[in-house]
Amino acid sequence: MTTMTVETLRNYINGEWRDSASGTLLEDRNPAQPDQVVARFQSSTPDDVAAAAEAAAAALPAWRAMPPPKRGEILFKAAALLEERADGVARAMTLEEGKTFREARGETLRGASILRFFAGEAWQPSGDTYPSANPSTFLYTTRAPLGVVTAITPWNFPVAIPCWKIAPALVYGNTVLLKPAELTPLTSYKIVQVLEDAGLPKGVLNLVLGKGSQIGDALVGHKHVAGVTFTGSNEVGRHVYNLAIDGHKKAQLELGGKNPIVVLDDADLEQAVTQTLNGAYLSTGQKCTAASRVIVMRSVKDEFTERLLRRVQAITVGDGLDPQTYMGPLVSQGQKDTVLKYIKIGQDEGARLLAGGHALDDAGRHGGYFVEPTLFDDVTPTMRIAQEEIFGPVLALITVDSFEEAIDVANGVQYGLSASVFTRDAERAFRFVSASESGIVHVNSETAGAEPQVPFGGMKSSSSFSREQGKAAVEFFTQIKTVYFDMPPAR
Ligand code: NAD
Repeated sequence: MTTMTVETLRNYINGEWRDSASGTLLEDRNPAQPDQVVARFQSSTPDDVAAAAEAAAAALPAWRAMPPPKRGEILFKAAALLEERADGVARAMTLEEGKTFREARGETLRGASILRFFAGEAWQPSGDTYPSANPSTFLYTTRAPLGVVTAITPWNFPVAIPCWKIAPALVYGNTVLLKPAELTPLTSYKIVQVLEDAGLPKGVLNLVLGKGSQIGDALVGHKHVAGVTFTGSNEVGRHVYNLAIDGHKKAQLELGGKNPIVVLDDADLEQAVTQTLNGAYLSTGQKCTAASRVIVMRSVKDEFTERLLRRVQAITVGDGLDPQTYMGPLVSQGQKDTVLKYIKIGQDEGARLLAGGHALDDAGRHGGYFVEPTLFDDVTPTMRIAQEEIFGPVLALITVDSFEEAIDVANGVQYGLSASVFTRDAERAFRFVSASESGIVHVNSETAGAEPQVPFGGMKSSSSFSREQGKAAVEFFTQIKTVYFDMPPAR
């Protein structure tokens, strides 16, 4: 077991780092070596949430009144600080989440780009002018912040997702309560430190650590909270949404996926194989946009499968801090159990295991939550492993006989987050783009990847029909005020 200093993470409320009223700490452990405690953190209570909500409400008038470019300046500074601290933040992420340092560093730099993009949005127009039917009326719109916004985030992108919720919330004049996933408190803590050091006034951003099951309802239901932005599982999302709507709060959900890659008969197979490998196994398959189904036309299926299998078998699984590692552990024992359960379900359903299928638990693995990269062949579209989100390194190969069948299979799930097609044929690429029931479509690239300047989000059960990031973010984090401005008669 490696010795390291174990930090105690406090809540950040009204510009102060505070212990929870509970007096209880929870442990943040390394999934590659679960006997290693990475940090201890507050097990917060509804009283802590209430204190944070009061602070956020008190900070709102001054923050809302600050000119947007001034708010943007703070985010510009935060972006630079996050870049400066990227190695430390990425290391913390690898230690508590398990993804490789390379991926963690890439995500941290992406977090900085998100902060910078929204800092720039502070300079954008915030309304429109309209011709009025009345010659004396100046008719225009402005945008007002929602007020206090709660952001509830998952463990799988512990920098990018908090950044893409916090940055637009702040730049459009809202104050924030951030509740990160209990598996990744340290990374979020570092993001809040960056924003504090960049000069955010007290109470504008508040961090409440702890278990969603204990403080979730308070975070959503508190009377000062006007909006809730949630990313996570469908089950928790539905609960959050219903509670928010009941309390007349604006709510936005980003949820699960079952993302397909379609490989047509004219695809560049080398490109398709490399992109499928990255889409399915990077981050150990724990991305909402990970590829979990690959739908291949029969005429190229054997060659595609042979090449993919060689690459899957060459994947190195290990500690994310080891530069040789391509794929780290799963994030938790629970996630490992779920993945192994689905592998068994796939075998019981009659799918054929081509690679992987087992936990990697030999002595040198320190009890880490490692599972082999797994590839199933002979999967049919209605099998559970082709329908349900597994959230792990398990890829299902489905063979089809036509382009039309490929589209039907790709769309034949409850989810609609991201989808890819590989082809050299522009006509079929555009037909796929048009027919795909997904919020994000890739042509000749894998299903994951999100640039900050474009909308992000899913169709069907993958979201609440809203979008995050890019120009879309303003829709959730503000409300429109329409102004009819008439002058009094001339004196
Ligand atoms: P989760 O739903 O278990 O947890 C998400 C967050 O909700 C955590 O902060 C958790 O503490 C909190 N929470 C738990 N119970 C709560 C309650 N009763 N009230 C309020 N909050 C509560 O999800 P997870 O396991 O952290 O993340 C994995 C899931 O997230 C997957 O389904 C994945 O597809 C999804 N995800 C979606 C996107 C997207 O943008 N569509 C991105 C990343 C992850």
